[in-house]
Amino acid sequence: MFVKALEEIVNKCTQYNARLVAVSKTRSAEEIQQVYNSGIRDFGENYAAEMKNKHKGLPKDICWHFIGHLQRNKTALISPYVHLIHSVDRISLLNELEKEGLKHNRIISCLLQVHIAREETKFGILLDQLNHFVNEIKTKTFPHISIKGLMGMATLTDDKNQIRSEFRLLKKLFDGLTASDKNFTILSMGMTSDYEIALDEGSTMVRIGSAIFGERN
Ligand SMILES: *Cc1c(COP(=O)(O)O)cnc(C)c1O
Repeated sequence: MFVKALEEIVNKCTQYNARLVAVSKTRSAEEIQQVYNSGIRDFGENYAAEMKNKHKGLPKDICWHFIGHLQRNKTALISPYVHLIHSVDRISLLNELEKEGLKHNRIISCLLQVHIAREETKFGILLDQLNHFVNEIKTKTFPHISIKGLMGMATLTDDKNQIRSEFRLLKKLFDGLTASDKNFTILSMGMTSDYEIALDEGSTMVRIGSAIFGERN
């Protein structure tokens, strides 16, 4: 792990009053334990089975964030303990999570992932469908789900203006939803390459992997 970089990121998050999720996908339990020992308690994973294994072997006060594409048949692997799911983009997934929440008698916190990037391959609710999606959730009852905000990933580009405008758009959508829903408090945006722009544009939660753990293979 990069001690100095982590320190810098933590300071920056404190300054912006944002929460840091250390993205530990592909990292070993030992590596995660090291970062844990320096005070970090939020870790992000993108594979359900991998998260389950790590949850089993690591300290129980870790808050596990699921940040990848979640398949309905994998929800059982994370539902008993997951702290926040950042990547809800389908009603069918909420139906499944509601069943899991009921089964485990807990409320599962989720963010809606919005497609803000230019790339077509990334997941997320399309911009022009977000309002419809939110309204559809309101017509259903999900007593075991709490929608807490939005998540988005900017385009992978060196064009900082492009990234900034995408984050700005997501913040605007977030503000629009906060006005009518008190539960909306989390705006998850920013990764290693763009978290400073994200914080500047109002992110309340950044998801950072390689700057803390090193490049992934
Ligand atoms: C891998 C990943 C990150 C972290 O990426 P880094 O560039 O290593 O900081 C953040 N968010 C999501 C959704 C990811 O899949």
